[in-house]
Amino acid sequence: MTEKEECFFCQIIIGSIQSKKVYEDDHVLAILDANPASAGHILLMPKSHYPTLQALPEEIGKHLFVTTKRLSHTLLRTLKQQGVSGTSLFLAEGKDAGQKAQHCILHIIPRREQDGINLQLPQNQVPPGALQELQDKLKMSVMKEGR
Ligand SMILES: [Zn+2]
Repeated sequence: MTEKEECFFCQIIIGSIQSKKVYEDDHVLAILDANPASAGHILLMPKSHYPTLQALPEEIGKHLFVTTKRLSHTLLRTLKQQGVSGTSLFLAEGKDAGQKAQHCILHIIPRREQDGINLQLPQNQVPPGALQELQDKLKMSVMKEGR
């Protein structure tokens, strides 16, 4: 079996596995997460099999983000009466970042006041010079890699 044939989300995209679709076009599919972090939790994915964000072509990436904005707005507008006052976006790139799916997935999570979802990031202290060193290294690297 190919990577695509083994992919749970590719099976959803072709319809072999049922899902609750909320949006679909030629390039992306959005479904309700069957095990949501909160009511209305959406999984947005490219319809072609890209295992990571890195594998995603730039044009599909742009479309994915434009669709994210649209779906976030829809959640805010439509679930306002259910207390939704914000959305959090989550994309895990790599196992250590929490990626479990073998397909690039962007989570759009509706947020309510004191909903108990913990996405608080630590705010660490860094040694003097460390930020400068990182800035120099990353700035140089991103320029080399270009588009
Ligand atoms: Zn896939």
